[in-house]
Amino acid sequence: MPIGGWESENGKSPGPAPGLARVLVTGAGGFIGGALVEELVRDGHEVVAVDRKPVEDWYRVFEEVDNRVLDLRRADSCKEAVDGVQLVYNLAADMGGMGFIENNKALCMLSVLINTHLIEAAVEAGVERFLFASSACVYAADKQTSADVEPLREGDAYPAMPEDGYGWEKLFSERMCRHFTEDFGLETRIARYHNVYGPHGTYDGGREKAPAAICRKVAKAKLTGEHEIDVWGDGEQTRSFTYIADAVYGTRLLMESSFGAPLNIGSSEMVTINELIDIVERIAGITVQRRYDTTAPQGVRGRNSDNTLIRQELGWEPTTSLEKGLEATYRWVHDQLAAQAPYRWEGAEPRIPA
Ligand code: NAD
Repeated sequence: MPIGGWESENGKSPGPAPGLARVLVTGAGGFIGGALVEELVRDGHEVVAVDRKPVEDWYRVFEEVDNRVLDLRRADSCKEAVDGVQLVYNLAADMGGMGFIENNKALCMLSVLINTHLIEAAVEAGVERFLFASSACVYAADKQTSADVEPLREGDAYPAMPEDGYGWEKLFSERMCRHFTEDFGLETRIARYHNVYGPHGTYDGGREKAPAAICRKVAKAKLTGEHEIDVWGDGEQTRSFTYIADAVYGTRLLMESSFGAPLNIGSSEMVTINELIDIVERIAGITVQRRYDTTAPQGVRGRNSDNTLIRQELGWEPTTSLEKGLEATYRWVHDQLAAQAPYRWEGAEPRIPA
């Protein structure tokens, strides 16, 4: 069956599911990478964790892991990273939320160097499987013009008109995976993540996405008593948000499956940004005044994940409710902010940090 332009036979590949293996996780100093390393270590894998950032800036660091600082835009770094590993999870990319990707298109496209050098090195080193972290930003713009959007099926990436910059790089790299499978026999897996959020994610600094940004704004309102927040757009744009534990579980299921074409890893619980704020308000126990900025970056009008194919291929789909996931995320973001002080907290005097 043709799947989104993947009309060749590599939709299914017969390879055996890998057992315990030496595994490379790139982008391991970031949000999804850190959570994935934690799970792989827990299950006894030997992990090589690579990121460009100095280790002290990684979101999570695990002592038992071979942690390395390498810039994977360089071919020699990619060769060093894949040496002796059987599985590669390529999560490294220069990325962020809409505020970042709309204003840094060239930087986003340069991530093509990472996947290009890494997949070539993987073939040379005889890696067994290679997973590429793609994105719902590959989907064609004309399928996402209404807030009341039809959930996106994998085939909706074609005819191609993805998010400019970031989405084009992801779509190109997806196809590179396909052709490396066809021409060189490397088993590839492609995860199309839809808006992943959760504790230990980016919540400040310009690369954060909507759930973390809203949690930060509401937590700050609670801590300071200043109950007015900026909202990008009119708040009626729609999205679905995927909890980090689901994203990691789905990623591992996909790697272990025999499915070689792109697959949505996304929640199908669609909400407006206003509904997202309503939930965070309930969790925080406050109400905020919303100041809508219709000039701010907003991305597509509506987006949701169709999970027919993941249910069919993996027998699973993301299940964590937004309410539950945001509860954990809000608590974590709140605690990060509270630790930074000086904030007024529940009537207490402002605390001055030591
Ligand atoms: P993140 O920004 O937290 O992590 C990415 C990591 O890659 C960062 O730590 C960064 O330092 C590292 N990196 C960037 N350039 C590098 C280089 N040249 N060499 C080595 N490391 C480099 O992002 P994330 O949310 O953990 O996303 C992981 C992957 O999933 C990315 O490929 C991203 O595009 C994709 N994705 C994420 C989401 C999401 O909602 N978080 C959605 C769709 C796709």
